[in-house]
Amino acid sequence: MASYLRARPCDLCQALATVRYRIQCAPGAAWVLACPQCQQAQREQNPNYRYGGTWKARLKKS
Ligand SMILES: [Zn+2]
Repeated sequence: MASYLRARPCDLCQALATVRYRIQCAPGAAWVLACPQCQQAQREQNPNYRYGGTWKARLKKS
């Protein structure tokens, strides 16, 4: 429990990931949280891809 990371499903492929990237797949489209694989695929294949930040599982701040 102590080292438990809150993995969340990728919005694109549903794979659980502890690090996700906030990306936009089309102009004006909703921002989604994508796993590293999807983020990389979008970056390479989607000319409308926009990067909006990185989400990480919360760790204890102390
Ligand atoms: Zn994914």
